[in-house]
Amino acid sequence: ARRLAGRLRFACLPTPATLEDFDYDAGSGVDRHLIEDLATGRYLESATNILMIGPPGVGKTHLAVGLARKAAESGYRTYVTTAADLAARCHRAAIEGRWATTMRFYAGPTCLVIDELGYLPLPAEGASALFQVIATRYTKSSTILTTNRPITSWGEVLGDTTVAAALLDRLLHRSVVLDIGGDSYRLRDHHARTHALRAAANHV
Ligand code: ADP
Ligand code: MG
Repeated sequence: ARRLAGRLRFACLPTPATLEDFDYDAGSGVDRHLIEDLATGRYLESATNILMIGPPGVGKTHLAVGLARKAAESGYRTYVTTAADLAARCHRAAIEGRWATTMRFYAGPTCLVIDELGYLPLPAEGASALFQVIATRYTKSSTILTTNRPITSWGEVLGDTTVAAALLDRLLHRSVVLDIGGDSYRLRDHHARTHALRAAANHV
């Protein structure tokens, strides 16, 4: 139990989201059977990557964190970060002469989640750090990456079409791609609240 607590602490899960409280009927078109299969952790044994693509609010982070939690609970070393955070950390590491140590750190987890690629533009150096992390983990351990940008625009996201192509080559070589659509869960909530407020106002 202590080891489990340690693993969960190390994982840095940003939210309490679990796969169990994911609502498959919310209209995002996520295949329950696929997620249940991923929840077994078999993909980790074959170093299969997971790419989640979709607009904001459709549950990408929820699913990624849920899978990360499952992985940690199943005994796998797990770590969750964002693309921006990874880039910033690698930037500091380069300045402080800790590049190799930092690359070893990102190579370590059996399950690494890199959330939110594409929200913030990555500087060239950040894109190459991301590429190096993906390349180091290639065929050895699984990376779960989420993005709001279709892969056709990753040249823009990474500021370099060659780096984008090389990264996608490694990432997709053995991978599951989840194209998540539908309405934003956040907006849906927001719409519901706005609706309720309006209804209340009309009754005054
Ligand atoms: P994204 O990462 O795709 O922008 P999030 O995973 O952060 O979206 O989802 C936004 C919020 O809505 C979170 O609080 C998340 O838990 C919730 N959410 C999104 N989709 C679902 C769903 N299908 N079932 C339950 N909660 C959801
Ligand atoms: Mg998110």
